[in-house]
Amino acid sequence: MNRRTVLQGLAAFAALPFLPACSRAAAPAVAAGNAAVTSLAHPPAFWRDMVSPAAFRVLFESETERAGSSPLNEEKRDGTFVCAACYLPLFESAHKYESGTGWPSFTQPIAGSMQTKRDFVMLIPRTEYHCTRCGGHQGHVFNDGPPPLGKRWCNNGLALRFVPGSESLPALRG
Ligand SMILES: [Zn+2]
Repeated sequence: MNRRTVLQGLAAFAALPFLPACSRAAAPAVAAGNAAVTSLAHPPAFWRDMVSPAAFRVLFESETERAGSSPLNEEKRDGTFVCAACYLPLFESAHKYESGTGWPSFTQPIAGSMQTKRDFVMLIPRTEYHCTRCGGHQGHVFNDGPPPLGKRWCNNGLALRFVPGSESLPALRG
């Protein structure tokens, strides 16, 4: 790419109508969380044999599962939802709610568990989020959740594993 194409690209970008910012700051942190999570630097291939092929496509190729396809939509027990790849705790059941979208939905993640970034896959800006430890894609966060936080963390069930409160959390892996 030469300097002219760079400048042309910048000009094209500047000509786009300004897109409104659609997300506020992330939900406030809850008190208990994953203190000082260390991010792993494994390439996606590291996880290929540790999760199902369908989960791999969601976690490391950013696919979205079909709405209504996850058994976790119906999961109502007390417990913790951990990352299907590295087992980092991501959501508490107390923050799960029925959004009617067909995907497991939460009002907030466990503090320190998730990182966000903008994506433009659907041409409109969306906020993608992923496990802060392994980088596995989990879902998107929207501003149409219930009060008081107003957030809907819309998650792929394939990217999660539910651990009932009666069981101890699995050791982190990876
Ligand atoms: Zn993870």
